[in-house]
Amino acid sequence: MDCIEHIEALFARHGNALYDGARAEPVTALEHALQCAQLAEWADVSTSLVAAALLHDIGHFIDTAGLPDTEDDAHELRAMGLLTQTFGLAVAEPVRLHVAAKRYLVTVSPNYAAQLTPASMHSLQLQGGPMSAVERELFDDQPYASQALALRRWDDLAKEPGKATPPLRYYLGMLEQLRQPGALGARRPANVADSR
Ligand code: FE
Repeated sequence: MDCIEHIEALFARHGNALYDGARAEPVTALEHALQCAQLAEWADVSTSLVAAALLHDIGHFIDTAGLPDTEDDAHELRAMGLLTQTFGLAVAEPVRLHVAAKRYLVTVSPNYAAQLTPASMHSLQLQGGPMSAVERELFDDQPYASQALALRRWDDLAKEPGKATPPLRYYLGMLEQLRQPGALGARRPANVADSR
């Protein structure tokens, strides 16, 4: 199966699950992904970062055989092969770092933790909680640290019930563009924004 068809099939199979499972957020996994991509697009970032926003939780759809709610699911790592091979580091790295970005923001921003949902606070503890000074330095040195922090902010906001977004098909079209040789990191063409 083609990679983008595979991504479409993953959303078709798992997208209707309530995001974050038992500690459900008020939106489905698909709604969360679309809202996250929309927020990235509104921020006028690269197409790669919009794609990362769309796909940041796709690891939740891979190897889903139930881990208990008391263990870190490492979902940020599970799609790395697919994302790196299909789209390159500009998409894969912000996805890989989006959990670390939450731990980073909790540590450096006193107000950040206060706006996390209960589900996100729960997973934060499983993911290691606040960062040490050494961990923060290592995060700062990551080439895609700033993109991961931006993605994290959209991730936290992308939980609004009933919000209107473009359909998945629209963002799959963007993924198709990204797959073209030389397109990685390209900026979104103006006419794509107009086609919502
Ligand atoms: Fe998320």
